Amino acid sequence: MMTHPVTLIPGDGIGPEVADATARAVEASGASVEWDRVEAGLHALAEYGQLLPDDVFASLEATGVGLKGPTATPIAGGHQSINVALRKKLGLYTNFRPVRMLAGLRTRFHDLPLDIAIFRENTEDLYSGLEHEVVPGVVESLKIITRNASLRIARAAFAYARRERRHKVTAIHKANIMKLSDGLFLRCCRETAAEFPEIEYQELIVDNACMQLVMRPETFDVLVMPNLYGDIISDLAAGLVGGLGIVPGANLGDRHAVFEAVHGTAPDIAGKGLANPTALMQSAVLMLAHLNEREAAERLQSAIERVYAEGKHLTGDVGGKAGTAEFTDAVIRTMDAR
Ligand code: NAD
Repeated sequence: MMTHPVTLIPGDGIGPEVADATARAVEASGASVEWDRVEAGLHALAEYGQLLPDDVFASLEATGVGLKGPTATPIAGGHQSINVALRKKLGLYTNFRPVRMLAGLRTRFHDLPLDIAIFRENTEDLYSGLEHEVVPGVVESLKIITRNASLRIARAAFAYARRERRHKVTAIHKANIMKLSDGLFLRCCRETAAEFPEIEYQELIVDNACMQLVMRPETFDVLVMPNLYGDIISDLAAGLVGGLGIVPGANLGDRHAVFEAVHGTAPDIAGKGLANPTALMQSAVLMLAHLNEREAAERLQSAIERVYAEGKHLTGDVGGKAGTAEFTDAVIRTMDAR
């Protein structure tokens, strides 16, 4: 059996709790993974005086694959986001977030078979970090949109749609107001759409997209959008399928892949053993598929689905009474029982 070296970044807040739970589940899935555990975030700052120490990059350079817990970013001041730095430095230009309804989960939309694939551009837009004070009382924040990055994310979305036999790609924008920047993004999407004539192409202004996602979420298939809209729409879509405890993600570049949940550090429940590890476990399923460990990926995914269908060991955020450990034990028992 092949052993895969993987960089494990536990992160801050609930990060170490969900990362440990997920590492246990991956080990029980039958895949052979050797973790290289490195610290980034507030732990790293306390221990090494750096939020994103060089050994994180050295490890990812060697393994090419990472599994990452959330890291804290101070609001209005303080340091730059670790995620933005990591995504830019490693060229992780695609942020892929599959939003699926888990059978058995009671949500406001549980009667709808939701399966929405979000492709969020991951390296530019208002996340470029180019902000300055022009004169006291006036600040400027630059929104960068490039043809290269827009084409890359559009191609990633359409290539996925073709490979997975999905029928429609929707580009989300605000080109009625940001005519040049979002206008360029849209032109790149249209150009790419012309190369995939079998896939229906649609455009929606972001505010209308939010309303339609809540009114008719089942009509959405594959979504592609610039960075900021992708951040917001991801959380909105997570709310449709049970919340942030559920939705996984993958940051993909040409040479590296870092898998992480959509959620943040959840400071309100950190350290209490209450966090739902499903989102990071489902991120690990994407990681196992990426490593070509298809059987292990399928085993972990179907164990998660069975635990939800049974509904006896679910965490508080999705209406259950279990903690992180009880849910994780149930997933592992279900895999072992096969
Ligand atoms: P959050 O995602 O941490 O929490 C929002 C709400 O969802 C909270 O009520 C939280 O308890 C709940 N929640 C989130 N994940 C959960 C889980 N796995 N199980 C159960 N409940 C869960 O968002 P926030 O409070 O806006 O952000 C907190 C911090 O996280 C900020 O510093 C932010 O910058 C950071 N953040 C990091 C990442 C990342 O590293 N990828 C992503 C988003 C936010």
